[in-house]
Amino acid sequence: MRFANRGGRAFVLKGTSAGWDLEKESSGRFSPDPMQMWARHDEIATWVAGLDEASAEPVRPEELDAPVPVPPSIIAIGLNYAEHARATGFEPPTDLPPVFAKFPSSVTGAHGVVRLPGGGTVDWEVEVVAVVGKQMHHVDEADVFSHLAGLTIGQDLSERTRQFSGPAPQFGLAKSYPGFSPIGPWVVSMDELDDPDDLHLGCSIDGEVVQSGTTAGLIFSISRSISELSRVLVLRPGDLVFTGTPDGVGMGLTPPRYLRSGEVLETWVDGIGRMSHTFA
Ligand code: ZN
Repeated sequence: MRFANRGGRAFVLKGTSAGWDLEKESSGRFSPDPMQMWARHDEIATWVAGLDEASAEPVRPEELDAPVPVPPSIIAIGLNYAEHARATGFEPPTDLPPVFAKFPSSVTGAHGVVRLPGGGTVDWEVEVVAVVGKQMHHVDEADVFSHLAGLTIGQDLSERTRQFSGPAPQFGLAKSYPGFSPIGPWVVSMDELDDPDDLHLGCSIDGEVVQSGTTAGLIFSISRSISELSRVLVLRPGDLVFTGTPDGVGMGLTPPRYLRSGEVLETWVDGIGRMSHTFA
């Protein structure tokens, strides 16, 4: 099943073209607040399984808002694909990959316009994003997937000049301008994904493919990354984990290339869906 947000209300789908307003269809059993879906994801999934698809309302992905509009935390993992690490001038991590935060005000949906802040060095990073369901602290790798509500698509947009200027890198600020954390169009439950450890992901600019990879190339798999995070952090319902980007980002190209006003960035993860953003 898929968890979504239509007009600020929790919305659930069985397929990709029709679904139900969660609060109305459940006669108030479940909250209309999309942020209340995550802690109860199992219960909602069981209830959705019993719905008759004939009663579903048609919906297009373009109508949906960010499925997790106000995550308590956004945790992101850097240098988690070996080729990307080398292309950006770093050695691939052997112990733990670098971890940083994006600020929740940077979240936006899977379609729309993202304003470039000026400076001309905004870069793309397609990522698979995990959405925490049950709270996690000290969770073993084998138990991580049962704690997730599902996976969605993300872009970890990054203003590279801000990121790398100054005495120490500014990851958090440089990746948190408004609209710099697009996610969506929905969260796909774990049972619906054939193999979370081999999901193909990519993105294109004006139709030219710039990134193409698979989560099989992760140095730290989704479950291992999140298990390691849970050794330190308490991961709460609705938290997002950006799991890293494969090679092909603009700063690694010769010469470097960045997003320009008017360009269209299409982003996809097979088995989840697509996002499309225009820059202004
Ligand atoms: Zn990233």
